[in-house]
Amino acid sequence: MNSVSSRTLFTRRNLLAAAVAVGATPVLAARAEPSNPVKAPKDRVHYTEMAVDAQKTCKTCKLFRDPASCLFVAGEIAPHCSCMLWAAPKAA
Ligand code: SF4
Repeated sequence: MNSVSSRTLFTRRNLLAAAVAVGATPVLAARAEPSNPVKAPKDRVHYTEMAVDAQKTCKTCKLFRDPASCLFVAGEIAPHCSCMLWAAPKAA
C-alpha cells in the first residue's frame, strides 16, 4: 500500500464510518463523556429540537425509552427531537 492510499484509508472520517458500519457508535458516544461513562452529552451527538428527517425522531429510534430518556444520550429526551445516533427500530 502506498503512502497516499494509507493516508486516505486512515482519515478520521473513514474510521468513524467504519465504526458506524460495525455498530461501534454507541461505544464511542459512551466514551465521549468522562463524568458519565454510560451516556454521551447531547452536544456531542448533535441532539436537536428540529429533526432534519421527520421519520427519524427520537420517538422512532430504537434507543429511545418512554417517557423521555435514551440508552446512549444523557438528559431528558423529547420524542420529537433527534440526533446523529438515531437507529432504526428492528423490523417487526
Ligand atoms: S435519536 Fe435515538 S439515540 Fe438520539 S437522542 Fe433520540 S433516542 Fe437517543
